[in-house]
Amino acid sequence: MTARIDRILHVAALVGHDVLEIEDVRDGWPALATLHVERMQLRLALFVGSLGSGGRRRDDVERRFQNPGQNRPLVGVDGRASVLLALWDQDDRLRVSRPIIVTYDADRRDGLMTRWSAFAPVSTLMDAQATGWATHVSDSGESIRCMVPALLPAAILADVEEIELEQLLVQTAVEASGLLEEPEGAAVPDSSPSALRARRATYSLVRDARFARRVLDAYDGRCAMCGVGLHLVQGAHIYPASAHGSLDRPWNGLSLCANHHLAFDRYLVAVHPVERYIVFHPDVLEAAQTDPTARAFIEGTLTELRPCAARAVPKPEMFHRRYAHYFDEYEWLPANFSF
Ligand SMILES: [Zn+2]
Repeated sequence: MTARIDRILHVAALVGHDVLEIEDVRDGWPALATLHVERMQLRLALFVGSLGSGGRRRDDVERRFQNPGQNRPLVGVDGRASVLLALWDQDDRLRVSRPIIVTYDADRRDGLMTRWSAFAPVSTLMDAQATGWATHVSDSGESIRCMVPALLPAAILADVEEIELEQLLVQTAVEASGLLEEPEGAAVPDSSPSALRARRATYSLVRDARFARRVLDAYDGRCAMCGVGLHLVQGAHIYPASAHGSLDRPWNGLSLCANHHLAFDRYLVAVHPVERYIVFHPDVLEAAQTDPTARAFIEGTLTELRPCAARAVPKPEMFHRRYAHYFDEYEWLPANFSF
């Protein structure tokens, strides 16, 4: 039991005590904790174990995590999100250069009275050591995530918000943070600048995904400028996310296919702030005189934005601020587009 408690405290230290605060470690199954993330406090029931030998004579390909024993089920705590995770920081066969946290789906195992196992492929663990984040979908369809500790808060936040983080985006964020260049086996790196950068960058991925989902929902998953669905749409900010005072609110977003997103980002299309009709940059109109594909692009674009849920109708001010922010790029706009 002491070993289990030590492990929980170690996980909290790896993540950062200021981020993952253990309120009451109890007997460690679960410990009660608060995750401080993005000015929110998430109450957690934390079920933690370690990854060991696979026990299926498959030690070359997988590691195993188990609940403490028969009749020691995972039982959720009212008002708290259950988080089930394993720490991989030592291994009889492999060199562990940096600790990896593996998350499992707690709901799948809720209340199971047997001794159960959850596995993690060695290849995914090794990937996570190299890139900071790697995911694996098990034969039963469970999504298993392996990550450096700095990413755990964003992973839990994504679960609570039912958002899936894209592996490539997370890996790119980790690489840019410099976290992987920290000396191997460094002591607890929870407060290093690179860990902070990785944490912030992954929070922002959660924010982006949350924003995109809200905007796409409001447009039924269709492009506001052409109506295409087919999971080809993205959330685009009107007043850009990078600009001062930009808000991730649905009324500052458009659901756009990749083509219209790029055209919008490159100032080739614009929307009237109030009447919401769509106009094209003179270059596009000129190209359409001779280039049938440019003509097809114009013809494939609606004359005005698709209707959307009331909560997401773009606020005219968002367009005004966009056009003012990129003033030089929008010199071609008709005069009635500004204030
Ligand atoms: Zn489109």
